[in-house]
Amino acid sequence: KIKTRFAPSSTGLLHIGNIRTALYSWLFAKRHNGSFVLRIEDTDFIRSNKIYVDNILNTLKWLGIIWDEGPYFQSQRLVFYKNKINEMLDLGCAYKCYCSVNRLNKMRLKQISNGIKPSYDRKCRYDNSSKKGHQEYVIRFKNPLEGNVIFYDQIRGKIIFNNSELDDLIIQRRNGFPTYNFCVVIDDWDMKITHVIRGEDHINNTPRQINILKSLNANIPNYAHVSMVINSNKSNLSKRKKDSSILEYKEQGFFKEAILNYLIKLGWSYKDKEFFSIDEMKKLFSIKNVSKSSSELNLKKLLWMNHHYLNNIPIDLILIKKFKKYLKNFKIKVNKKINLIKIIKLLRNRCNTLQDLVLQSRYFFENVEKFNFILIKKFFSQDSYKIVKIIYQKLYNIKLWNSENIVILFKKISQKYFISLKNIYMSLRIAITGLEESPSINTIMDIIGKNESLKRLKKLLY
Ligand code: GLU
Repeated sequence: KIKTRFAPSSTGLLHIGNIRTALYSWLFAKRHNGSFVLRIEDTDFIRSNKIYVDNILNTLKWLGIIWDEGPYFQSQRLVFYKNKINEMLDLGCAYKCYCSVNRLNKMRLKQISNGIKPSYDRKCRYDNSSKKGHQEYVIRFKNPLEGNVIFYDQIRGKIIFNNSELDDLIIQRRNGFPTYNFCVVIDDWDMKITHVIRGEDHINNTPRQINILKSLNANIPNYAHVSMVINSNKSNLSKRKKDSSILEYKEQGFFKEAILNYLIKLGWSYKDKEFFSIDEMKKLFSIKNVSKSSSELNLKKLLWMNHHYLNNIPIDLILIKKFKKYLKNFKIKVNKKINLIKIIKLLRNRCNTLQDLVLQSRYFFENVEKFNFILIKKFFSQDSYKIVKIIYQKLYNIKLWNSENIVILFKKISQKYFISLKNIYMSLRIAITGLEESPSINTIMDIIGKNESLKRLKKLLY
């Protein structure tokens, strides 16, 4: 049975690249009726933080990337790692290294000045004279000295590393804690992970991890290294910057469906299909079609994707509820009588996100006086006031208040008083919405209602 995992370190906010890896890993499991494990890698006690753990859990939950097992926390498995390390010492595939930090530093500097890639010279692997006078030690893995490590990456194909390039990896630090490279390998094995799908930045760790597994006679999982996601200016995404965090997008009113759709397409394709429902993603995703090259973040495309979702989802109670939530975020009070469905219908084509929808619909809910003052000065001549005055009276007499009747009335006035329709629309638009641009003003007046429309006109006139 196929089993994949997502194993983020809780040392920063999840960014788009991390999430895409999680998505691919999850979809691969779902596609093959397998299961998906969440494991938090928090053995780096100094940089790990509970807020990052919460960020990981909340992000995945919001997106619906739900784990079948876990979350496991490496910090709760320290005894298990300790036992494994002792086992390796007993088996003779690991050793204690007493070399002082001072010695290691000197060695490194010398290697660098000789133009050699710094690596440990394996002194303690052969003699333990360093032990004298030194209590502190690290534990290192005895990497094979000869031969190759070969693996078949599911995205990149055959990959070969020469053992001579790999040094003796530290598996336990001076402070007694196991290292990332050790825990990850032992956990993947213990949790019976069949496919390790992770970022390309780990590709150099893979041969070392395979060697550790081999020394323990353990099964080697399949590997797939997903290329990086980079910013549009080619810089790397940051785990510390707030703006690369997914929950920031949620705040701004993106739909999770649009984000998932954007992410799956960022480095993967299926024919020339653009839109995928979650079910389609689960059915169609294949690791083989994942791109080998890095993918550039494109905010415009994400906005476009979200626009598509905003304009194609049914206007149902769920959407209304979301809209209300965003209105509330902006501290906008909603009059119970106003028809939110009509507002969404009227405006969504002009919007990319729910936040846009709120910003563009403010005049339905708020008094416009405070923001139309400048416009009125700019556009309102004596004539405009006259127009509004005439119209006010006529509107007042309308029996059946709806968009059609309002237009009929405008046309009549236009003919009778030789005022252009354009002029009428503009004056009313500014008076009612406080804006120079808006959807058709008669529809807006219909939604706002007779009382409120007249109230706004009256305010302007008197
Ligand atoms: N914890 C590692 C990271 O956040 C990932 C480990 C892995 O996927 O193998 O980069």
